[in-house]
This record gives sequence, structure tokens and C-alpha cells, in this order.
Amino acid sequence: MSRNITFTMIKPGAVAAGHIGAIMAKIAEGGFRFKAVRMTRLSKEQAETFYGIHRERPFFNSLVASMTSGPIIAAVLEKENAVLAYRDYIGATNPADAREGSIRKLYGTSIESNAVHGSDSDENAQIEANFFFNSMDQF
Ligand code: GDP
Repeated sequence: MSRNITFTMIKPGAVAAGHIGAIMAKIAEGGFRFKAVRMTRLSKEQAETFYGIHRERPFFNSLVASMTSGPIIAAVLEKENAVLAYRDYIGATNPADAREGSIRKLYGTSIESNAVHGSDSDENAQIEANFFFNSMDQF
């Protein structure tokens, strides 16, 4: 399993606010290389599957509604130690707590609408990439 790949989404709120270009530039500035990019919109079923681990959490329905409210950008990124490097780069889940200059601090508007997703493990990066893209061969 590659330790050099992670998966990200630019979430609907950030897309709707017109931040696609700025966020993609910021990702590249951090040394992450785009291996695959796609604009799409999650169905309710897809969002529920993607965030299935949070099914019992009180914010689950709100999160699914937010993630299906408009188009997203899905992307596979490559860098050494990509999963940890990217989570560090985007900042804390809650933009209010995120490091100054981080993507979530700059473009997140709430703990839910926090601009971007970043995989939390190499295993999940592979699963999430496969969720949006056809073949791992291309990565
Ligand atoms: P992440 O790995 O930093 O994205 O955080 P988690 O895996 O804990 O949560 C997944 C996503 O659920 C976050 O990115 C937020 O969009 C959302 N989320 C997490 N915690 C909360 C919360 O307390 N309230 C709401 N409304 N959404 C949350």
C-alpha cells in the first residue's frame, strides 16, 4: 500500500464560494502533486457511505445534507507521507482551531463546512480514491 497517496475533496461550501482555484493552488504550493481530479456531486447514498463511520454521531444528517448541497472536487494527491503531511497542511477539523494560513483556516466557515476533506490513513486513502476513480493503476 502506497504511503505517498492521499485523497481530498473540496467540499460544496468552498466550491460554491468560488474557492476551487485558490485551494488547488494552495495544495500545489504545499508540494502535493495532483494525480487525478474530478468534479462531481455526491448523492445522499454516496455521502452516507463515505461518512459511514459517523453514522451514529448527532451531526451525521447535517453533514450528509451539507456534502450533497452542491458539487465537489475530488482529487488524489501524491507526496511523501501524503496522509499525515496533508492533514497537517489543511489544519484542524474546526477552522477556528486550525493553524494560521492553513486551508481550513483560510476557507472553512464552520466545523462542518471546513473547506476540504483529507484521508486519515493510507488504507482509507486507497478506499476513498477508489470511491471516485476507476483504477488505482493511474496513481
Ligand atoms: P476530519 O478527519 O478532520 O475531516 O474530521 P472527522 O473525521 O472527525 O469528521 C468528518 C467531517 O465531519 C468533518 O470534516 C466535518 O465536516 C464534520 N464534522 C466533524 N465534527 C463535527 C461536528 O461536531 N459538527 C458538525 N456539524 N460536523 C462535524
